[in-house]
Amino acid sequence: MTIIDRILCRPCIFCAIADGSTPTTLVYKDDEIAAFNDINPAAETHILIVPVNHVKSVKTMTTDDIPLLEKMHQKGIDLLKERGHDPEQSRLGFHVPPFNTVDHLHLHVVGGAMKSNFRKLKYETGRMWYMDLTQLQATLDKKRRLQEGARL
Ligand code: 5GP
Ligand code: ZN
Repeated sequence: MTIIDRILCRPCIFCAIADGSTPTTLVYKDDEIAAFNDINPAAETHILIVPVNHVKSVKTMTTDDIPLLEKMHQKGIDLLKERGHDPEQSRLGFHVPPFNTVDHLHLHVVGGAMKSNFRKLKYETGRMWYMDLTQLQATLDKKRRLQEGARL
């Protein structure tokens, strides 16, 4: 949620979905994470996995968050397999600010036929706007090393 959202008392839509206070159906929920179908799917399967507690984006994460990120990723793989998709052929990733539109961390879980070439590009890992778990872990490790270096 942005400062503007807070000032205007605008609730975070993904917080509301994750706590079950909207009509959106959750395809998975536990104490830490929730999953639901994207309202505007980019492919045959397009699920969003979010932390239940508000986390803004990949930019606010640290290496301490890696277990949560791994859990989100593993749940994405499980949901893809349940729907008959090969996770290796799927697109799991995070849009990197400013290329995101919702300021509540969400893992896109995109499997099956893509709806357009533009969507293929939008969810293509290795691009500066779309990061997979491996890239995110490397970025967080680098950030920690830089912070440790700055403290010396
Ligand atoms: P981003 O652009 O931030 O990476 O992705 C945000 C995603 O959230 C988009 O794919 C968009 O379709 C989805 N989205 C936005 N608002 C809602 C909503 O109210 N419900 C659901 N289910 N998905 C949403
Ligand atoms: Zn939120």
